[in-house]
Amino acid sequence: MLHVQGLKCAYSNVIRALDGVSIEVGQSAIVGLLGPNGAGKTTTLRCITGEMAFLNGKILEGTIRFNDMYLGTTLPFEVIQHGISLVPEDRKLFIDMTVEENLIMGSYTIRDKKTVRLRQEKVFEYFPVLGGLRNRLAGYLSGGEQQMLAIGRALMSDPQLLLLDEPSTGLAPMNAATIFQVIAKIRAEDGVSILLVEQNAVRALKVADSCYILENGRSVLHGSSDQLRENPKVKDIYLGISTDSQSGSVLEG
Ligand code: ATP
Repeated sequence: MLHVQGLKCAYSNVIRALDGVSIEVGQSAIVGLLGPNGAGKTTTLRCITGEMAFLNGKILEGTIRFNDMYLGTTLPFEVIQHGISLVPEDRKLFIDMTVEENLIMGSYTIRDKKTVRLRQEKVFEYFPVLGGLRNRLAGYLSGGEQQMLAIGRALMSDPQLLLLDEPSTGLAPMNAATIFQVIAKIRAEDGVSILLVEQNAVRALKVADSCYILENGRSVLHGSSDQLRENPKVKDIYLGISTDSQSGSVLEG
């Protein structure tokens, strides 16, 4: 469904943020994107959504294909129309608008009012707590509720592919667990594909079918979550399990 091949990009023509990222996301798959700070995870999502142009960024090489379409120069609202929806790390909610109004903002690519209503009911099925808060201003929601609303708003456009940028950041473990349960449910019930950027490797490997590891703007490792859980480098660096008890070394290959 999504094929990113050899992606290289820079901000302000000088800061090379990506230096060869290749990832694939299949139909109804959950794919994790892991890596240290500054590895290029968010930038990869920005290239897909067409946001780079608004940040003085530019794709230098590589291709992004979604179904039969080549993205890269496509504008963000067109990317949404093509079926890709982003939940940004900072959520970007309209804090002076109610929960319901925020959801409606997410449905601006859908003209039919009945469809909008059905989408909204679907969001409330995923996140029942939001139904009870539908008239509350988004700015008064807790962190966990705001994250639910950000995901709910992204679902309003009925995406085929959902891009999630660190959905568990700043959340209490219980709220993070709820979010990950719903992510699994969105795939299972609606067949939505999910590309999940996540700092928490344990959680990502639990929910994702496969993961890519990004380092210094490159995709350096890819495998099924089961394979990666057993990979010595992943164990050492991302799961904090030392595989070299003799020397205490944390690095491998
Ligand atoms: P984190 O986990 O800390 O969010 P990341 O893997 O998402 O990191 P990016 O945010 O994509 O990494 O950053 C990749 C590189 O691009 C970094 O060197 C970063 O400083 C740089 N960068 C990111 N955004 C911008 C920007 N708007 N302008 C200039 N450089 C940027």
